[in-house]
Amino acid sequence: MLAEAEQWRSRDLRVLWHPCTQMREHPGTLPLLPIARGEGVWLHGHDGRRYLDAVSSWWVNLFGHAEPRIGAAIAHQAGQLEHVMLAGFGHEPAITLAERLLALAPRQAGREPLGKVFFADNGSAGVEVALKMAFHYFRNRGEDNRRKFVALENGYHGETIGALAVGDIPLYRRVYAPLLAEALFTPSPDAYLAEPGESAEDYALRAADRLADLLDRHPGEICAMIIEPRLQCAGSMRMHHPAYLKRVRELCDAHGIFLIADEIATGFGRTGTLFACEQSGVMPDLMCLSKGLTGGFLPLAAVLTTQALYDGFLDESRERAFLHSHSYTGNPLACAAANATLDIFEQDQVLERNQRTAARMAELAAPIAGHRHVADSRQAGMVLAFELTRDGDKRTPFPAAARVGLHAYRAALQRGVVLRPLGDVLYWMPPYCIDDAQLQLLAETTLAVIEEVTACA
Ligand SMILES: *Cc1c(COP(=O)(O)O)cnc(C)c1O
Repeated sequence: MLAEAEQWRSRDLRVLWHPCTQMREHPGTLPLLPIARGEGVWLHGHDGRRYLDAVSSWWVNLFGHAEPRIGAAIAHQAGQLEHVMLAGFGHEPAITLAERLLALAPRQAGREPLGKVFFADNGSAGVEVALKMAFHYFRNRGEDNRRKFVALENGYHGETIGALAVGDIPLYRRVYAPLLAEALFTPSPDAYLAEPGESAEDYALRAADRLADLLDRHPGEICAMIIEPRLQCAGSMRMHHPAYLKRVRELCDAHGIFLIADEIATGFGRTGTLFACEQSGVMPDLMCLSKGLTGGFLPLAAVLTTQALYDGFLDESRERAFLHSHSYTGNPLACAAANATLDIFEQDQVLERNQRTAARMAELAAPIAGHRHVADSRQAGMVLAFELTRDGDKRTPFPAAARVGLHAYRAALQRGVVLRPLGDVLYWMPPYCIDDAQLQLLAETTLAVIEEVTACA
């Protein structure tokens, strides 16, 4: 088995350039794991070992690997229609999926519900679509000065040039900064940044006041604000109080700009509700979905918009139309996977089950949260994060050179668990099918890993 794994590893490194990776670190510093198959929470390696996927493979997996119902739906669709371009053509999987997404989308009293769906084929592409739509809408109305976007500090919206421009994570952004359109960043409502004694809600509202000031300074220049509601995932799983989004909604309305909810990572039950916006009682004007949309099987993105925004593009002129397209827009196989995913939400009462799982996660996290190097532990539904610091109380970070996160990643893998920390933040974002024994293994491993990596740092 080990020899087999070694063969795959060397073939891999001869030809593959892995994402989000300094390839020099393979294989010396960073282990490379060839995976043969997946089942439930487990990834089975060619080394004969199995690994508990505690991060749902970059947050895309919902119901476990190789979920048979989703696999069967894709296989069935493949026998009917694998793909047809979506310009000039339509098909059952895309139509049904759009109907269902609109029926499930967040609503808000006094607002016309979201009414149209535009498909793309990955999260970043979905963000590009939302940004271009917001800009183009105002252009169609002759408001040419509205070309700026407001985004949160520490936010993340993907890696393509447009999406990167509204992201604020230096590691991904800094090198490409000269290529990026200028965005207006406003302080994150991140509860970790609250002053001692200040509640998460008070801090969020204070951050909203800063947003109000920013919007006042740029009258007529802004087309939209983009935000990850409730949880900044790539930004180290930082969480904020739902009161913030409520204020954002009011401020966007007061200034006549669009609110874009990037629910690519938070959507589909991750933070406890089907969509994170619901916790604030807010309906966005545009909502970006991807990742869990297909249960983790295939790349697909959906951008939901209001009918009013859509109507702003109807005209004799093609220039006023939204001519954006991707070859695989609305791919039937991906849409079939998404429809099967929505079936499972209904059949298995997923959100109800997740409430019990999330409560169990909280119980198991309590002893870890008390560790002297854990400065903060926080939870939003099925996401739970531990902030490791040199000094739990004073929140002094470990020196970057100590590479605590990397050591934690390796130590967890040795114990058969995939924890892929964001900096020095360890988090649990498991497939929803995780059972109690697996949760206990995850908690034991997390504590052991924290002990190991903080003992020498
Ligand atoms: C992952 C992510 C994206 C980008 O999606 P990709 O499919 O990786 O391009 C955008 N926004 C958020 C909030 C994400 O977590």
